[in-house]
Amino acid sequence: MRDHGPFSYPPDETGDLLAMSLLGDTIAAIATPIGEGGIGVIRISGRNALAVAGEMFRPISGVPVPGLPTHTAHYGFAHDPITDEQIDDGVITVFRAPRSYTGEDSVEISCHGGIVPMRRVLEAALRAGARLAEPGEFTKRAFLSGRLDLAQAEAVLDVIRARTDEAMRVANLQFSGVLSTRIRLLREELIGIMAHIEACIDFPEDVVEADPKRIAESIRDTIRHVTEILETADRGKIFREGIQAVIAGRPNVGKSSLLNALVRECRAIVTPIPGTTRDIIEESINIRGIPVRTIDTAGVRNTEDEIERIGVDRARQSIAQADLVLVVLDAQEGFTKEDRALLSDLAGKKLIVVVNKSDLLREADAEKLAGKVSAWAKGNLPPGVIVRKTAAPSNEGIVELEDAIAETVLCGAPTQIPADGVVVSNVRHRRALEESRAALEHALRTAEVEMPADLICIDLKAAAQALGSITGETVTDDVIDRIFSEFCIGK
Ligand code: GDP
Repeated sequence: MRDHGPFSYPPDETGDLLAMSLLGDTIAAIATPIGEGGIGVIRISGRNALAVAGEMFRPISGVPVPGLPTHTAHYGFAHDPITDEQIDDGVITVFRAPRSYTGEDSVEISCHGGIVPMRRVLEAALRAGARLAEPGEFTKRAFLSGRLDLAQAEAVLDVIRARTDEAMRVANLQFSGVLSTRIRLLREELIGIMAHIEACIDFPEDVVEADPKRIAESIRDTIRHVTEILETADRGKIFREGIQAVIAGRPNVGKSSLLNALVRECRAIVTPIPGTTRDIIEESINIRGIPVRTIDTAGVRNTEDEIERIGVDRARQSIAQADLVLVVLDAQEGFTKEDRALLSDLAGKKLIVVVNKSDLLREADAEKLAGKVSAWAKGNLPPGVIVRKTAAPSNEGIVELEDAIAETVLCGAPTQIPADGVVVSNVRHRRALEESRAALEHALRTAEVEMPADLICIDLKAAAQALGSITGETVTDDVIDRIFSEFCIGK
């Protein structure tokens, strides 16, 4: 059965030709970060990539670029194609279609990694007939030429942006195509059910009558599979996007010391004078593979000091946006009325209470205080609040605090990547799966009440369409444009 989505992937023969003729012009961009580096790479891709490169790069072997074999690297000189002025020396690598990242003829010129050499080599490519690439255009071409599906193309950006090893592992799995394969199989199953129903409607004499019970069973099966994939989404999102944690508490309880202990380097200012962290200090840390943006706030207290008051307001704002708040208490001062008031204010948030400076109490007293806080939390806050004792400057209790952070953030979501490697980490994919499941549930209700079979097909088609949008088999041009516009130029 053919898909009738607004965009068909892989493009059929005419679509393919159309896509390639629209996109086949030759693009160029700097592919490495702008700044000082050992090497900078300029990428050129498109129908005339080799001819363009030939106009502005001369291999010392004397063989012009269009004559170079694919997947070979050649030392030579980049020059201005108009004035012939030599710009830089470097290495050109040739990738002929279809064995290139974009699926088109491409070259990469590695020159000196400075702003001026990179800009000048790029300008030479533009003068030789390339046009400046749009953001993500190389990857978009890889998608349009069928080298990558849409979920794989999106994974490229996730690999680049990964902030922890775990986030990168998830991105690489998606790039390898495990999610796409699973989605494609589910979609094929749906298309199979639809084909069966339609055959029963169109050729009632030749095909056995559609069995509503069997159809309902197949739909139930697909719902189960979609739900299974969706169950990985919470964990996937947390590892891909990370979370924001805020350290809150009265002044001088040890918030900055706690941030330092978590970061394991001295960045936040630690002083014995209350109110010194007047603004917010932010660190990105890796807790059990979860990227955690941790914010040390100005102590939350009523103050006359104008500058400190701005800090306190900002603290309140970051607390409002946080996924997790670490509320720090000073063990020596005990569990004060102010601490209770702050915790009550934060009742709707994911919370961990940190009983800091526990080194200043005897072990038994610190234990008793933590017990008291726990008991109060059980009676006054929603369930799930964890209490941990720490002594921040000596790193005591920090490992246990990190465990508590991972536990609270994941709250029951599996900590391990499933054995089949299928993890949903992208909100767009999650929405598509939810949309597909809703359509399947509707189809199931229709099948269960034995309504006409063609009504089931309408919902199944919507479910298949939603699944197809993940891999790009059914997706509109504006969605494609939106996805690739998030990429940087040169990717
Ligand atoms: P903040 O105002 O809440 O950020 O508190 P700071 O981190 O600036 O700490 C205030 C003071 O308490 C500093 O002198 C720290 O050295 C001290 N301090 C912080 N945590 C501990 C702890 O766990 N044990 C002890 N003994 N002192 C601490």
